This record gives sequence, structure tokens and C-alpha cells, in this order.
Amino acid sequence: MELVGNLRPLQHDNTSPVSYFFRTGQDRAQLNDLVGETIWIKFKGEINCIHCGRRVKKTYNSGSCFPCFRDLAENDLCIVKPELCHFDKGTCRDEAFGAAHCMQPHIVYLALSSEVKVGITWKANMLKRWVDQGAIQGLPIAEVPSRKLAGQIEVELAQHISDKTNWRRMLKSEIAKRDLRKVREELFDTVPDQFRQYLLVDGEIHSISYPQVSIPEKITAWNLDKHQEVSGKLIGIKGQYLILDTGVLNVRKFSGYKVALVV
Ligand SMILES: [Zn+2]
Repeated sequence: MELVGNLRPLQHDNTSPVSYFFRTGQDRAQLNDLVGETIWIKFKGEINCIHCGRRVKKTYNSGSCFPCFRDLAENDLCIVKPELCHFDKGTCRDEAFGAAHCMQPHIVYLALSSEVKVGITWKANMLKRWVDQGAIQGLPIAEVPSRKLAGQIEVELAQHISDKTNWRRMLKSEIAKRDLRKVREELFDTVPDQFRQYLLVDGEIHSISYPQVSIPEKITAWNLDKHQEVSGKLIGIKGQYLILDTGVLNVRKFSGYKVALVV
């Protein structure tokens, strides 16, 4: 089988283990059946912006050309630092995008990917977000009416707990033994009064498992800018990573790269 086109982030369905799909443009291939098999990903030397299709030499923020990076609302700084949301000031890069994506119910969560981390996501996207981070457990701890409010609570909690994933440890399945409910209890004591009304005291832990036949001992990263051809035995898929016995490939990072998947 050969699938050719511009790479998109891995798509996944909420099954156990997670069902993954490799996507190029409109086409997709089921990946779970390929775990244990040798695969090839060949970079064709062409990169196109995932938003406007313009041919580019390099991408910004996983798939954008420079104008799309500079101008699109989804590439604004407030997406990664939601506490800086400026929708109220009337300066949102795209009010329709802000209304549809940011002025919507959001969840503040705890996730266990290596250590426990705090994060936020659009409510409807919660499970997908956890899978994208390679978390094995997630627990919603607050629900708020906007992304900005979620960001403000995250900033408070991030004084006590990490808001980053250690991707190497996540891929090596080096996961701290922590009880998310206990961490929630400890954190709730630190939440300022103005945010307490949003806390979810009875959220439930969701567990996630990934298709994987073995755990890599050492993590080396494949880079399509340096390696025209990536090949190896696919031993697992976790987060946005294909885990090969020869190294790992962060698929999202190379969104827009024209590739062929050969199996
Ligand atoms: Zn573009």
C-alpha cells in the first residue's frame, strides 16, 4: 500500500486501545494493524501550508506558512497563553473563530503522561486532547464558560504543578505513580475564591491505552528536514508520535510535508 499527500496530524478514535489513522490530505490509513510491521515514510521534498496551500520552504507552528502564522486567530499567542485572550478588547484576529472556539465551555484538567500536569481544553475536545498528549489518565477538575477563564485558573494551578509534558518520558512510559484525585484535593485548597464556583468536585478519571507492542529504551527523534526517508518497525503509537524501533516521529510537527507512507 502507498498513501501519498500532504501530512496531517494523526487522527484518532476513542477506543481501547486508541484507534489511530495516518492522514494525507483527504486520504487516511488505519495504523493499528501496522503495529509490529515495517513501514516507510518518504518525504517528497515539497511542503504546503495546511491553511492556504501555498508552497513553502519551512512551516511555523506545525504546518502554517508565515502569513497564516502571523494572521490566523488559531496561531495567535493567546491560543497557547489563553489568559492573554483579547476578545473583550475587540482585537481578536477573527471574531467568528473566537466566538466558535474560545467563548465556549472549557475544561481545566489534570492528566498523567509522565508527571501530573494541568491543562485546559475546549470541553467537546477533552478526550482528543488527552490522547494528543499521550496521557494514560485524565481528570476534569473545573468547567468554565470561556477559554480565558480556563487559562486564568491554569495559571494559578501551574504555580503548584507542571503545565508541560515531558515527551521523552511519556514515550518511554516512565510515568509517576500519582493518584489524580489526591492531587485534585491538594490543588483545590490553593484555588482563589473567585474561581471556586467552577470547580468540579466529582469529576471522574478516564483511562487511555495505546496500541503498542514494546517500549523503546532510548528515544531518538526522526526529522523529515534531515531524513528524506524514515523507516523501521512500528512498535507503538502514542500522542502524536509514531514509535519505530529506529526512532520516533512527531507527525503533527511535520504537518504540510508531502510524504508517501509505504507498507
Ligand atoms: Zn498559509
